[in-house]
Amino acid sequence: MALIIGVESTAHTFGVGIVKDGKIMANKRDMYTTESGGIIPVDSAKHHRELSAKIYSEAVSEAGINEDEIDAIAFSQGPGLPPCLLEGLKFAKSLSKRLGKPLVPVNHCVAHLEIGGVTGAKDAVLLYCSGANTQVISYASGKYRVFGETLDTGVGNFIDTFARYAGIGFPGGPKIEKFALKGKSYVELPYAVKGMDVSFSGILTNLRQKLEKGDYSIEDLSFSLQETVFAMLVETAERALAHIGKDELVLGGGVACNLRLQEMAEKMCEERGAKSFCPERSLLVDNGAMIAYLGEIMFTSGIKFSGDDAQKLDIKPRERTDEVEVKWK
Ligand code: AMP
Ligand code: MG
Repeated sequence: MALIIGVESTAHTFGVGIVKDGKIMANKRDMYTTESGGIIPVDSAKHHRELSAKIYSEAVSEAGINEDEIDAIAFSQGPGLPPCLLEGLKFAKSLSKRLGKPLVPVNHCVAHLEIGGVTGAKDAVLLYCSGANTQVISYASGKYRVFGETLDTGVGNFIDTFARYAGIGFPGGPKIEKFALKGKSYVELPYAVKGMDVSFSGILTNLRQKLEKGDYSIEDLSFSLQETVFAMLVETAERALAHIGKDELVLGGGVACNLRLQEMAEKMCEERGAKSFCPERSLLVDNGAMIAYLGEIMFTSGIKFSGDDAQKLDIKPRERTDEVEVKWK
């Protein structure tokens, strides 16, 4: 039982969430966007630096709390882009110093899994589908383990790159979803599941060739892309469920906002007597509430850094999910 601030800054989003006794009191965020092309880490970091104070005070007033009620400040320690992570760390440290409250360092990917708790999941497999990351993660035998992952790009980046080739702007995911609804026929695409892993580069090349030939409509290509790639993702998630004998699936990451992916995940779970949990959109994308939520669980189990120890904490840009030291389970 505690009141925790959560600071998210791993990539394009700066977010502050507030969780009290497992309940989300506020979840404020702002996303760095570009006119064209991808994310420029130092520009995104500048965005975070400029907006942090504003987002924090919006979150505090939305939650209707007094700062003296705060028990600790949790922050995303990694993985992520170093300049962006550093802004989050700096913000969390200065807040910790000003309020005299401890810090709780949180792994971003594990937070995506554990936020499934608000929808009722207890011991789930996470299908994490974001721009840069694509992983199937779960807790097993004392560690969070990666059961499958992309061998090249994240699924969101893959979809966005296809959208860019097709000239339909960024982010491509929501637009591709709309086109797919109007698709009529399935166009054969490579299906790339290797063991428990997936890969997208061959499918991207194939789609690009089909686009350049001009024989297929964008609607049919979008439909076929979704059917193929989401089947790959759901297949690896199903294998993980079977392999570790779990019966709960949680979705996470921006691509999980896609209704067709949600539907396929539900169907797969239904067929094997499992349950698919999908947090609301504001908790699927990068957000501070999930950092606060896991931060509270960690804090309650005694994990906290105060004073000098807090100021000595550093970012972990390349932290792997299975390297996370789990002392709270
Ligand atoms: P994240 O990295 O978790 O913030 O997610 C961003 C990614 O999610 C981008 O690549 C978007 O194109 C993708 N995305 C957002 N909404 C959708 C959607 N409805 N369908 C597919 N992808 C989506
Ligand atoms: Mg994320």
